[in-house]
Amino acid sequence: MSTMLVVEDLSAVGGISLSAALPVLTAMQYEVAALPTSLLSTHTSGYGTPAVVDLADWLPRFFQHWTQAELKIDQALIGYLGSVPLCQLVTQYLAQQPLDLLVVDPVLGDLGKLYQGFDQQYVDAMRDLIKHADVILPNTTEAALLTGMPYQENPDLTAILPALQQQLKPGAHAVITDVQRGKEIGCAWLDDHGTVQFYGQPRLPGHYNGTGDTLAAVIAGLLGQGVDLAAALKRANQWLHLAVAETIAQQRTDERQGIALGQLLRAILSVH
Ligand code: ADP
Ligand code: MG
Repeated sequence: MSTMLVVEDLSAVGGISLSAALPVLTAMQYEVAALPTSLLSTHTSGYGTPAVVDLADWLPRFFQHWTQAELKIDQALIGYLGSVPLCQLVTQYLAQQPLDLLVVDPVLGDLGKLYQGFDQQYVDAMRDLIKHADVILPNTTEAALLTGMPYQENPDLTAILPALQQQLKPGAHAVITDVQRGKEIGCAWLDDHGTVQFYGQPRLPGHYNGTGDTLAAVIAGLLGQGVDLAAALKRANQWLHLAVAETIAQQRTDERQGIALGQLLRAILSVH
């Protein structure tokens, strides 16, 4: 078994971020080291203002202890961090770790805008973090923010993907996660020849919390097992489609809860 470090917020209610990554990566046979960067009473979409504790003061002690205890991490997945100090602390720690794989979901914004509380300084801190990544998973908004290109709902992938690649180390991959093509939604990336690749699934109606976090966990899990990028993105999108379809089938009265994970976990366990 290998150890996957997951670094992101822990929202007590809402079933996203760390709450989604833990079961997914556990089902994929990882030993998961969970590092919450902040604690929230709920996630930030639809419950009003959550009670938040930023754990930036705790992180140096946390890393110090891990270093003393000689805990070894094989892979890492970074999601929502939330502040410049948190982003810098995580970057400093990861820069010293000999990892097989670092996947960064550079959570910055959506629908063309930065999330509340983020500014250009945060974008710059994220640019420093992604320099260490093997794979980054921005949405189209984050791709625009990281490259400085103007936001477009359907960007020119032949321009924005190479611009993203330039921010990464050689051999790393940028994957845009919410690309729409016709009736499909999926991922776009550049293959080894620099040609744009896309894999999508039919877009289902509605918008759901936690799709991006769950997608990132699945992709990190598959890549950490040695699945190649194209195959991992294909399978991840198929599994996310299952999860969104299950969520719709549940006819939930509370739309705030993150996507259903039952079918997705069954699909993962059927191949593990
Ligand atoms: P987030 O905004 O949470 O980061 P994304 O919009 O990037 O999430 O979506 C991540 C993935 O979730 C997509 O690549 C797709 O596989 C799946 N997904 C999201 N919304 C839908 C939908 N309405 N129908 C089908 N799949 C979806
Ligand atoms: Mg996302």
